[in-house]
Amino acid sequence: MKHRHPTRRQLFRQAAGSSLVCALASPFCDALYAQSRGRSYTYDILVKGGRVVDPSQGLSGPRDVAASGTRIARVARNIPESQALHVLDARGKIVTPGWIDIHAHVYDGVAPLAIPADPNWIAKGVTTAVDAGSAGAHTFPGLRKYVINVADTRIFALLNISVVGQSTLSPDNPWGELLDLRYANVALAAKTLERHKDVIVGMKVRLTRNIAGDHDLEVLRRAREAADAVGLPVMIHIGGSHSSIQDILKLLKKGDVITHSFRGGEGGILDDDGRIHDEVLAKVAEGVNLDIGHGAGSFSFDTAEKALEQGLKPGTISSDLHQFNVHGPVFDLATTLSKFLHLGLSLDEVVERVTVNPANLFGAMKGLGSLKEGAEADISVLDIDSGSFELVDALGAKRTGSQRLRPVATVKAGKLYGAASYPVERL
Ligand SMILES: [Zn+2]
Repeated sequence: MKHRHPTRRQLFRQAAGSSLVCALASPFCDALYAQSRGRSYTYDILVKGGRVVDPSQGLSGPRDVAASGTRIARVARNIPESQALHVLDARGKIVTPGWIDIHAHVYDGVAPLAIPADPNWIAKGVTTAVDAGSAGAHTFPGLRKYVINVADTRIFALLNISVVGQSTLSPDNPWGELLDLRYANVALAAKTLERHKDVIVGMKVRLTRNIAGDHDLEVLRRAREAADAVGLPVMIHIGGSHSSIQDILKLLKKGDVITHSFRGGEGGILDDDGRIHDEVLAKVAEGVNLDIGHGAGSFSFDTAEKALEQGLKPGTISSDLHQFNVHGPVFDLATTLSKFLHLGLSLDEVVERVTVNPANLFGAMKGLGSLKEGAEADISVLDIDSGSFELVDALGAKRTGSQRLRPVATVKAGKLYGAASYPVERL
């Protein structure tokens, strides 16, 4: 039981039904405020009246979700409003565990492609983002100090096997971080993983020719060696590489992640006839996770449609949101999810791929991606708009969707965020 003396503004939120009156008639509000002094609340936040979709517990139906402190306290029908300090009216909305985007770039100002975390992730329904290789061993301390430690978005990272991370490549400097093989320093990477294992969840390696030259297999071997030294997985970025996908896949094992898995062009998961390579299916069966990582050049409706026709669904859906796609075609994770609703995945399947599935990939994310009682109080509240929406992939191909997901509010670790980069209340 928590005893709080709410501020007047908090009271307006709490007394949802009378908020208009309160905004206009202060004597009434003063009276209400006076009455509230000394009241006690069982819950800090109550998300009331929504349809809860939580694949971690097979839940899809009307429920209220209550949080106390930083934890989910109760998920049930008809939790009384009077028991909560803040009530968020979620009638007509979808309520899910806070979304997890496992391919993000948030090292703003250091990796040329990166963008600020909070306006692009937590303000857009994503409570947890994984920076996918923007930093390497030399630049990771800065990512931790200036981004991870201060952002409202919860941030984990995949460490680039190159010591310089993704600091070299930009439209005006088209040379990637691994062209000089000497930058792929296993000992330094392993030391960094060990030192920051609370926030680094694995290694990242980009295998494209302008990044890894013709030594892509060697840089992957080195990423593997560093990851294995501390028992973490490797995320690889595929497409346009010197070596064949078959040779690359040989170096992957259970728990590893292939991002850009539904990309078009050479080096992808399909053969020239549009059939999924047997080696890809074998690795998926072995427990390698296919991730989307939409990005500026790495998601193709054509590939997605062919893969889905053959029964292959991605394990996780991520955005690869960055400087060169945030104004389209990616915009945000919600838009990528809307593309998968159009492709025929159900809402529950889509939510699973940004909540429990990503949380299960990385040990450090235990307790995220779920609304089970006792889990971290991370909640995404969204609208589903119906209409006609143009959806564009990374190659410029267009489809018309009939549903669009639109995040309206987010709770992270018990704090409420609106469609802005700052908490609604800093308590
Ligand atoms: Zn990326």
